[in-house]
Amino acid sequence: MKIKADLHTHTVFSHGKNTIEEMVERARQLGLEAIVISDHGRSHPLYGVKPENFKVMREEIDRLNRKYDDIQVYLSVESNITGDDGTIDIGGEERRYCDWIYAGYHWVYIPHRPGDFFTLKLRNYAAKVLPFLKTVTRRFNTKTYLKMMDRYDLKMITHPGDKCPIDVEAVAKKAAEKDIILEINPRHHHLNVEELKRIAKYGGRFAINSDAHTVDRVADVDSGIAWAEAAGIPKARIVNIV
Ligand SMILES: [Zn+2]
Ligand SMILES: [Zn+2]
Repeated sequence: MKIKADLHTHTVFSHGKNTIEEMVERARQLGLEAIVISDHGRSHPLYGVKPENFKVMREEIDRLNRKYDDIQVYLSVESNITGDDGTIDIGGEERRYCDWIYAGYHWVYIPHRPGDFFTLKLRNYAAKVLPFLKTVTRRFNTKTYLKMMDRYDLKMITHPGDKCPIDVEAVAKKAAEKDIILEINPRHHHLNVEELKRIAKYGGRFAINSDAHTVDRVADVDSGIAWAEAAGIPKARIVNIV
């Protein structure tokens, strides 16, 4: 297996170290067919893309698509799950300027409603240090993920199971029904081999992405490819692999 498109990368518009053009140049050097710029959702107080920057990013990506005919560049956003009712942090700008939307759980975000601070954020922090809370937290998080998948037209869930325990089988079943891609993310160690083996039977699609925050990590997915192979996931079900 070999990567042909990196669907999850970050730039200086969140906390990546390189510009969009530098990331695209690196992807071209590596012979990729496509790269997706997917900086962090707006509710991260430090790293989130400022709403007014989605237009700027769109214009830059359109310019690069005109400039190069050997690669396709797409704009997405790695939105944050900010509410226990499945809310993610997208507004009009994301809907207008992004080619599609991703969602993932992160530690740092401004909760959607004050109550979400306790039900979602604090609960997941507590479950990290108090293992007896993990089962109930997993059940709660899973409900949030299922609601999110019903509410939004998502292209992909990034690093499912990282930072936020979920019932990966329930999420995979729903993702297959909704044709939402689940990510194999070597940087965050999820989905891992054991999870992939458990959910392979649900028939959904996967992507193996670098989540690069610097040019030198673009397409750096060898361990993710090894996990997919070890779990017996057929190449035809991984959207960005040849
Ligand atoms: Zn992430
Ligand atoms: Zn990311």
